[in-house]
Amino acid sequence: MNDWFEWRDAPTADYAVIGDPVSHSLSPRMHTAAYRALGMDARYVALRVTVPEFEQAIGHLADKGYKGANVTVPLKEAAYAWVQSPTDPVRSLGAVNTVALSLHAGTNTDVTGLDDVLASLDRPVERALVLGAGGTARAFLVHLLSKGLQVRAWNRTEEKLRSLQIEGLETFSTADPTGCDVVINATSASMTAENLPVEWQKAPKHCVAIDCFYTKGKTVFQQEAEAYGLATIDGRLLLVAQGARSFEWWTGMTAPREAMLSAINED
Ligand code: NDP
Repeated sequence: MNDWFEWRDAPTADYAVIGDPVSHSLSPRMHTAAYRALGMDARYVALRVTVPEFEQAIGHLADKGYKGANVTVPLKEAAYAWVQSPTDPVRSLGAVNTVALSLHAGTNTDVTGLDDVLASLDRPVERALVLGAGGTARAFLVHLLSKGLQVRAWNRTEEKLRSLQIEGLETFSTADPTGCDVVINATSASMTAENLPVEWQKAPKHCVAIDCFYTKGKTVFQQEAEAYGLATIDGRLLLVAQGARSFEWWTGMTAPREAMLSAINED
C-alpha cells in the first residue's frame, strides 16, 4: 500500500495522481524516482477524488500551487469536460489522463504511451485486436484507427462496443486474433483474475499479447497467451510510457524512463 490522501487533506506538492481508488497507484513512486534521477526539487502524491467532486478538487489543488495531475479511473471523462477548448486528437478521444492546472489544459498520454510500447516491439504493428469497450479501449481504438492500423475489436458486451460508433471499426462477436501483430487487453478482467475467451490458437506466432493491467507476477491474460507460445507484456511498460509522456508534457524535459521503470519494478 502506498501513501495517499483525501484531496481535502492534500499536502503541499507539485503534481498528483487523482482517482478513486488511488491507494494502489505506483505513479508517486515512479515520478519521485524521475525527480531524484534529474535532481529536481518536486513532490508527487496520490489523492482520492470522486467524480462529483472533480471540479472542486481541481480548484483546490490549483489554489494550493499544484502544477499538474495524472487522472485515472473513473475521472478521465470528467477531466475531458474540464479542459477548456479541447483540440484534436484529445477531442476525438473524449478522455484526458493528464492536466495542467493553471492552463486549464489536458492531454491523453495513454495513447502516446501505447505508441511507445508498440514502437518497442521487434516488428512494426499493422494489425491489432483490442479487447474492451471502456474508456481506455475507446481511446486506443480511435487512436490506432487514426494512425491507419487495421483494428479488430471485441468486448464481452458486444452492444457496448457498437454503441461507441467508431468509424471504420470492425467489431467481432469472438475475440479472434487471426493475422494480428498484437492483442491489447484493455478490459479490467485481469484485475479480478478472470479469463478472456481469446482464440489464441488463431494468433500468428509473432503476435505479442499486451495487458494494460499489471500485478505481482504474470496476469492471467499473460499466462494464457504464453501457454500458446506467445510473447507478452504487462501494464508496467504502458504505465512508464504514459507517465514519461506526462512528465515531458509538463516539464519540457526528457523523462528518465529507466529510473522510472526500476522504481516500479521494486515490488
Ligand atoms: P473501464 O471500467 O472503463 O472498462 C472496463 C472494460 O473491461 C469493459 O469493456 C468491460 O466489459 C471489460 N471487463 C471487465 N471485466 C471483464 C471480464 N471479467 N471479462 C471480460 N471483460 C471484462 O476501464 P478502463 O477502460 O478505464 O481500464 C481498463 C484497464 O486498463 C484497467 O485494467 C486499467 O487498470 C488499465 N489501464 C492501464 C494503464 C496503464 O498505464 N498501465 C492505463 C490505462 C488503463 P463490459 O462492457 O462487458 O462490462
